Amino acid sequence: MSWVHNLYEYDYEKGTIRLKNKKCPRCGSIMAHHMVPVERWHCGKCGYTEFVTKKSSSKKRRKKKE
Ligand SMILES: [Zn+2]
Repeated sequence: MSWVHNLYEYDYEKGTIRLKNKKCPRCGSIMAHHMVPVERWHCGKCGYTEFVTKKSSSKKRRKKKE
């Protein structure tokens, strides 16, 4: 019940990011998207985590503790 936040749109710094379904490469379940502390996809089923690296990021991200 803790992964109802899987699929939705929300405003990010520059605008709206549309989150799409991402399936876990390990078990095929829908993965959850997390922004804090780093952007990543996480599978709540098997625990697989995939970190997001944006190649087109023009601005630096500052480290801050959340
Ligand atoms: Zn999985």
